[in-house]
Amino acid sequence: MKDRTALLSRMRGMSARAPSGARAASGSAAGRGFSSIDAHFGFAGFGHLLYPFSSASLEVSVGSAGLSQYIAAMPVPSIPQSLIERLDPARSICVFTGAGMSAESGIPTFRSPGGLWERFQPEELATPAAFAVRPQTVWEWYQHRRRIIAEAKPHPGHRAIADLKKRCARVAVATQNVDGFHQRAGSDVVYELHGSIHRIRCQRCQTRDSSPSLADSATVPRCRCGGLLRPDVVWFGETLPEAVFEAALSAAVSCEVFLSVGTSSIVYPAAGLIDAARDAGAFLIEINPEATERSVLFDVALRGAAGKILPELCAVVGVTCNETMSPEGTEQAVLGRSSDMPSVPKENQG
Ligand SMILES: [Zn+2]
Repeated sequence: MKDRTALLSRMRGMSARAPSGARAASGSAAGRGFSSIDAHFGFAGFGHLLYPFSSASLEVSVGSAGLSQYIAAMPVPSIPQSLIERLDPARSICVFTGAGMSAESGIPTFRSPGGLWERFQPEELATPAAFAVRPQTVWEWYQHRRRIIAEAKPHPGHRAIADLKKRCARVAVATQNVDGFHQRAGSDVVYELHGSIHRIRCQRCQTRDSSPSLADSATVPRCRCGGLLRPDVVWFGETLPEAVFEAALSAAVSCEVFLSVGTSSIVYPAAGLIDAARDAGAFLIEINPEATERSVLFDVALRGAAGKILPELCAVVGVTCNETMSPEGTEQAVLGRSSDMPSVPKENQG
């Protein structure tokens, strides 16, 4: 497929970034000018730290601390008949999620006032260069992130996505988040475009491991080969895992309904999934508190909290959402599955 080839070749050797000319507004929420690094951090793999899914205007008007409560209080929009007519018979759904999805689970922003790590800029911690110079500091920051994620939990929107499989034969999730919440909620096909904070990887031999004992180590663990083990997430200036992206792209071009949830949808190459789905004829639905500059691409846009809108979408097509999460064992099984993906290409260690 021509588009797919073009997207893949465009992606190769390309680090996550906002497209040129994109007015990526959330950088100003961090109180300074916007660079492509801000765009990456703000909107992509680590974005759940910064509420990047919305433009700055919401954060400025309600403040970052009150943002998740503000969004949770937004009314549930009515679901248009055109959406029901496409979603109801769909046999294949692709769900693309971003930072807003995790933010609704109450994960605080990296720049929340008073935090232990406040004196660091994200780009001082989430880069290969930072890990080369201060591996222990970077490691401890990720320990901190893991603890926050361990104390939070998936919300009804995560569960609703998992429950769609009761109705639809193929439900694939392509996520920019690294917290594993989709798996914890019961989704079993999850493409982690920016890696997983629960997994570590040897920076020398690329061996991956998701055993908690290594991830919980107080000091940076070493691989058998002698290399340092790092979080298996995509850092600034690194490329997305190609095999994972390719699998997500397959899901996007073969789905009948494409749902984009909690993402500003402007960071390429991940955002290219939307273009691919649209070109392939999918019905496109956006769920986000605010319009983004790419909202015009969607057939239907629903404004509000994913944690409320997604269960409502399930309800209108007759899917009853589970009240409880999947057993803990599911998570490991699914993480194992994602790490069984074909090995990723050499990353830009820039
Ligand atoms: Zn190694």
